[in-house]
Amino acid sequence: MNPKKETIWEFDLNIIREYFSNTDRQGPGSPEITLKALSFIEGLTEKSKIADIGCGTGSQTMVLGQNTSCDIIGVDLCANYINQLNKKAQNQNLQDRVKGVVGNMENLPFQEAELDLIWSEGAIYNIGFERGLNEWRKFLKQGGYIAVTENTWFTEERPAEIQYFWQKAYPEIDTISNKVAQMQKAGYLPVATFVVPEKCWTDYYAQQPQMQESFLKKFKGNESAKQFIAYQQYEMALFRKYKSYYGYVFYIGKRIK
Ligand code: SAH
Repeated sequence: MNPKKETIWEFDLNIIREYFSNTDRQGPGSPEITLKALSFIEGLTEKSKIADIGCGTGSQTMVLGQNTSCDIIGVDLCANYINQLNKKAQNQNLQDRVKGVVGNMENLPFQEAELDLIWSEGAIYNIGFERGLNEWRKFLKQGGYIAVTENTWFTEERPAEIQYFWQKAYPEIDTISNKVAQMQKAGYLPVATFVVPEKCWTDYYAQQPQMQESFLKKFKGNESAKQFIAYQQYEMALFRKYKSYYGYVFYIGKRIK
């Protein structure tokens, strides 16, 4: 059954935040793919500064913290997620180097050319891939890197059902070659792209039935909570059916303009 609402943007933000607040990740990914993307970044030292934009509860922020000696600032709109990141940093005794701040990716709290690396997993879609690449570039030093994941078509053509769903949910969804061209046009040297493995999605979705059960208990009788879960289930069912047509891709670029 199709859900009543057709895009995630139609739901109350508090509902979405609450749903994802008890998970380690708010999007598909894994420590392994974070490290794989990190392996393409050259020249990081203890003096380097990394921003993790739309960091959520900070799963990948901590991987960056454990595997570099840089200063890392996670930025997210949601204060609850930022508190969780700061607790993780404290628990791992990385609080001097890894910090979360509440902030908006549309108005980032950085100086021009302050950053050596901008990271963003499963989050740039909130501002849009092209706009994010263009607006964030000024915060990078010349030669600094950007590494983001973005929902991407794997094929030139897709079945109508999945085309319709993602076209509505995220009109900027496009093929790898078109995304790479956008990156180049935005002033970056495209350094690498790789597909985020299907397992990251299946792991991400596998935790959800349990989350949905407790969420529905907590919000018993709340119509918009019910509709939100119906939407999540529909997205999951579509993934199972059409996963060969789309998925996340890591895009890594180097500022050259
Ligand atoms: N990087 C994390 C979270 C991805 S979910 C992971 O991969 O697990 C996307 C995140 O973007 C959410 O945490 C959401 O709160 C955040 N977000 C959405 N709009 C934002 C904005 N305008 N500015 C900053 N963060 C935003």
